[in-house]
Amino acid sequence: MGTNGQDRTTNGPAYRVLARKYRPATFAELIGQDALVRTLSNAVENERLAHAFLFTGVRGVGKTTTARILARVLNCVAESSPTLTPCGSCPECVAIMEDRHSDVLEMDAASRTGIDDIRELIDGVRYRPSSARFKVYIIDEIHMLSIKAFNALLKTLEEPPPHVKFILATTEIRKVPVTVMSRCQRFDLRRVDSEVLTTHLQSVCVREDVAAEPEALALMARAADGSVRDALSFLDQAIVHAEGTIRATRVREMLGLADRVEVFDLFETISAGRVKEGLELLRRQYAAGADPLIVLQDLLDLTHWLTRVKVVPEAANEITVPESERIRGREFAEKLRMPVLTRTWQMLLKGLDEARLAPDPLGAVEMVLIRLAFASDLPTPAELLREVRGETRPANAASAPTVGRSGDLPADSGEVGASTMDQGSISSAERPVGVNVDEGVQDDAVQRAARHPRVAAVLAAFPGAKVAAVRPRTESCGENGGSLT
Ligand SMILES: [Zn+2]
Repeated sequence: MGTNGQDRTTNGPAYRVLARKYRPATFAELIGQDALVRTLSNAVENERLAHAFLFTGVRGVGKTTTARILARVLNCVAESSPTLTPCGSCPECVAIMEDRHSDVLEMDAASRTGIDDIRELIDGVRYRPSSARFKVYIIDEIHMLSIKAFNALLKTLEEPPPHVKFILATTEIRKVPVTVMSRCQRFDLRRVDSEVLTTHLQSVCVREDVAAEPEALALMARAADGSVRDALSFLDQAIVHAEGTIRATRVREMLGLADRVEVFDLFETISAGRVKEGLELLRRQYAAGADPLIVLQDLLDLTHWLTRVKVVPEAANEITVPESERIRGREFAEKLRMPVLTRTWQMLLKGLDEARLAPDPLGAVEMVLIRLAFASDLPTPAELLREVRGETRPANAASAPTVGRSGDLPADSGEVGASTMDQGSISSAERPVGVNVDEGVQDDAVQRAARHPRVAAVLAAFPGAKVAAVRPRTESCGENGGSLT
């Protein structure tokens, strides 16, 4: 018999959320956990089942679902021993699936952390199961138990009666005492790949007879961040929101995401230094319901992705990336230089931190964009170096009055790894690196560099930045300069 999930195709009278309706009932239906399924299958086939299992993984990856499947694997009476393919129709299977089997006891340690709770639960350990083959104890969020509760559990875990199985689950494996861990067979559940999630959503849509744009599904899969449950909840909402086909635009609205095309546009205008246009774009996205912090996060993701595409061009070919983005992304990645990309990343990351703390996130995000736009035409440290090299005497201090930092340059250099250069390379630009300079000369070079109008502009753009040392770059990144922080 292979009728897993018998009521899959018929809509019952009461609406069931997709995450429940499509909760996997067998290992075969479990998504993105191949390694775990293989090990567990081997254990079942070779009849080497431990008496305690520990499932770990981030929230929503299917720990309790796997626990319930295992409970059915252990207890299905369609065969005379635990079977990899529980029938799904015997009374045991049905009762377990409906969470009402008297021998399968579940406890959420997050809400019941005390020793009395655990005592109450394991009090029945010594009694034989009423109908099932095994009495199964599923304890979720096991790391929340108090020390005393752990100790109480430990005694039973050490030598449980043969008719008892423990299935423990946790999101924070490091908080589980070693003594407990060592008595369990441990399984790590992986965050589900967004490509796998997209395919899964697709198949659910087919079964639900719902049409959806592939991009809409990819958006939800990405937002779910590895959690099947979250992905299905998003799909649930999307079905409610959509009139007919699920469209990417609606999903974006629903998730508070900015339009990807607009994120690309914003990135483009800002990196071209077109501040006004960029701010208008941001305002428009904000008005359309995009959360400014998410816009910033999107820019950060985009920067990361572009940098990846630059290093690994195949990264643009993943199926979650729509065709239009592939083309534009490759173009961008080619055009933007690595130092600019890494600088953008650093500025966005810092900006995101600031914006999270800011009383007005929109304002804070605007400031980040302005800073980015102004930095866009700033030279990379390597370019600065070249310009500074061209000079024979200190730059006109009057031309950079806004900075006036030459006096407060740190005596202890080490604030900024701007770029360094030695006396020799100032006079001869071709000269390779690596010559040590004595302190006096270095100081002089630093002061001159700081007064240079371009450097001064950088210093003004980044409050707190200082030129600490001047040295030519030798790294293989070519044009790449040091970082200005
Ligand atoms: Zn069964």
